[in-house]
Amino acid sequence: MSEFHTVIGLETHAELNTKSKIFCECKNEFGGKPNSNVCPVCLGLPGTLPVLNSSVVDYAVRMGFALNCKINSVSRLDRKNYFYPDLPKAYQISQSFVPLCVNGFVDFWYDGKVRRVRIDRIHIEEDAGKLMHSENGEDVSYVDLNRYGVPLIEIVSQPDLTSSGEAYAYLKTIKSILRYLDICDCKMQEGSIRCDVNVSLNREGEPFGTRCEMKNVNSFSAVQRAIDYEVGRQTKLLEAGEIISQQTRRWDDIKGESFLMRTKENADDYRYFPEPDIPPIKISDQHLKELADTVPELPNIKLIRYVRDLEIRYREAEYISDDPELAAFFDACISTGKFPAKSYCSWIMGELAKYLNAKQKSFSDVKLTADSFNDLIGAVSDEIISVSAAKKVFEMLLEKEQSVKSIIESLGLAKVSDRSVLESIAEQVLTENQKSVSDYKKGKTNALGFLVGHGMKLSKGKADPVIMKEIILSKLG
Ligand SMILES: [Zn+2]
Repeated sequence: MSEFHTVIGLETHAELNTKSKIFCECKNEFGGKPNSNVCPVCLGLPGTLPVLNSSVVDYAVRMGFALNCKINSVSRLDRKNYFYPDLPKAYQISQSFVPLCVNGFVDFWYDGKVRRVRIDRIHIEEDAGKLMHSENGEDVSYVDLNRYGVPLIEIVSQPDLTSSGEAYAYLKTIKSILRYLDICDCKMQEGSIRCDVNVSLNREGEPFGTRCEMKNVNSFSAVQRAIDYEVGRQTKLLEAGEIISQQTRRWDDIKGESFLMRTKENADDYRYFPEPDIPPIKISDQHLKELADTVPELPNIKLIRYVRDLEIRYREAEYISDDPELAAFFDACISTGKFPAKSYCSWIMGELAKYLNAKQKSFSDVKLTADSFNDLIGAVSDEIISVSAAKKVFEMLLEKEQSVKSIIESLGLAKVSDRSVLESIAEQVLTENQKSVSDYKKGKTNALGFLVGHGMKLSKGKADPVIMKEIILSKLG
């Protein structure tokens, strides 16, 4: 056990999926021929004026409500000045002094309990373009500005995270909330969510240590690896009695190491100043209320409720709460009060998950209703149909809205427990399997299983296996 505490803060950038870019009418979409989706405004040509896309503000405010933030009804945009070839204006329009959302928190389930991480702020800003370095040995780089002006929110956590596993759980929670609100496509492979990771170590009772930052880590598992590496690096230095210097480091996920980019001596000075071309963002109380009303019960809260109140397993709660449609369906089933949560869960985690996976479908594609699901579970618990027949019925319910009763009738799936029918089947089993009968009589008890199995087969799986076994046993004497 290390004598050091790990302190982690995350800055998470998420691309918003508005129709157009943040300050112009160019389409907000990924890819395309380089520099095909640009206009004088998003190229930052002289004489053009940016006009703020109001959907960007609405999306960010909804995220603010989801993370329990205070929303500033008047906020401002600022210029963050720096030079880089993917930023032709040589400044990024962002929010520094008065961000849209401040002082929030997010709760999530981690390691058997509820964890709360405070949110310092959520602000809006424009994304930069992309640099592409020549791959055929030429000493040149190309600039693609299709991404320039794509709207981003930056979610800045307080340094409340204490391990790489917890940071991973936090990021998964942020991602699932973004998906629930449908404000980000969350395509990690397209860079829709990216993280800057701050790590410092300190001893119990001592003030925070010097932090090091790793920029633009683009997958959650890479964040986890980058943190573990950084904790190891700083621990070694501290144990050797050295001092941590404030650094920005570049995480190389292929090498599994980070490399020094710059130290505090030449730390960034962005010379923020207010953006003069865009008026302050004002949001009325009425509009704030309308936006607050669009925020549903969120997946992190559902997950905590399922684990705590319904006492289902974390894995089940996570699977169900992750999909808004499935969670709504599950809630509808629970509210009927007909069966315990775990009866629903075993079907959802078993047959349903298997079906969705095999057919590459999501829950919104299936036709199952809470009522027919209840009828199906009832038919099994009342011993009207066998479990194997129920699986068949379940699949049909997924494909078409229909009644359980009509499926059972039309396919003749009802269990046969009529003794006279089963007696005659048992007779046939014994006549056709003389060898097994004599084996059984010689003490080979496993011959019984074979005989019952044959009986089930003759009944096409409809016989009640318990009664079938009982009758065969009595006939064997
Ligand atoms: Zn444009």
